[in-house]
Amino acid sequence: MKSNYVAFLEIWNYVLTIAAAITAVISLYLIIAHALKVASLKDYKKKYDYLRDNDSKKIYQSIFAFALALTLFANTLEQETVKLHIIWLFVRLFVTISIGTLIVYLSYLLLKFAYPTQLARKLRKWRYHPRTNPSTGNKMKLLSEDEEDVHLDEGMQAEENVFSVDYDVWVDPETNEVHIEKYAGHLEAEQCNSCGFMTMKQIKEEIHLAPTENSEGETEKFYQCSYCKAKRSKVLKIAKLEPGGNYHLPDHILFKEDRAIYGVTIEVHLGDGKSKIYEFPSTEQASDFLKEFDLDSVN
Ligand SMILES: [Zn+2]
Repeated sequence: MKSNYVAFLEIWNYVLTIAAAITAVISLYLIIAHALKVASLKDYKKKYDYLRDNDSKKIYQSIFAFALALTLFANTLEQETVKLHIIWLFVRLFVTISIGTLIVYLSYLLLKFAYPTQLARKLRKWRYHPRTNPSTGNKMKLLSEDEEDVHLDEGMQAEENVFSVDYDVWVDPETNEVHIEKYAGHLEAEQCNSCGFMTMKQIKEEIHLAPTENSEGETEKFYQCSYCKAKRSKVLKIAKLEPGGNYHLPDHILFKEDRAIYGVTIEVHLGDGKSKIYEFPSTEQASDFLKEFDLDSVN
């Protein structure tokens, strides 16, 4: 009986050693192939898109394969003890699978909560990295929001205005050649002021007092961090209703630190319990939107 068990253990060790080696190679291949792919993309916009869509995923896949390799390999260790009784085979299996699962789970948490901050930094770097015009070799200039409008057609401007997307316009100053790059609208989550991760999201809003034509209203926004669960709420004034349906932002908007403004959200309450949310990267764009805003067009 025992010799059968020992024979089985030899096959077990042989199979698991090979499986561990294969998964270790796969893990290494995944991360190297990813790094090579990033390096091979010479176009910064393509690099940006590829990183945004794949970076976390590829790192996670590689770590997963590595943890699997480690678990398989660990099941070939302590052979003398395991030979004593089959119970040790299961003890080893249980302990190693637990450790492997823990590694995968920890890396999942890190990639979900801590990594987005790193990734955002990486993405910003490639989005604003000075472009060189491939046909002339000249350094291109990134236009500001105000300058870029002449280069965007009406559809593009409309898209920017409802803020589902953001266009960057790069111009070759010598030939006036224009390259337009399209980016997704701003990230949903903000930086949490407790843990510092980019995981703070608005969870609800309560209107305490509806505005009338004579008085301001008041609303409270509630935020929660999906990582540290820190909660935050902000009480905001709602501007008086304009007679005749003209909407605009207050003339003087004062913020503690203007540079820290992440975006402007305009929520239109339609009276039937429904509301529509529009997001803008700056107060100027929000103002422009309100100037042209027509309630009848909202449905
Ligand atoms: Zn937090």
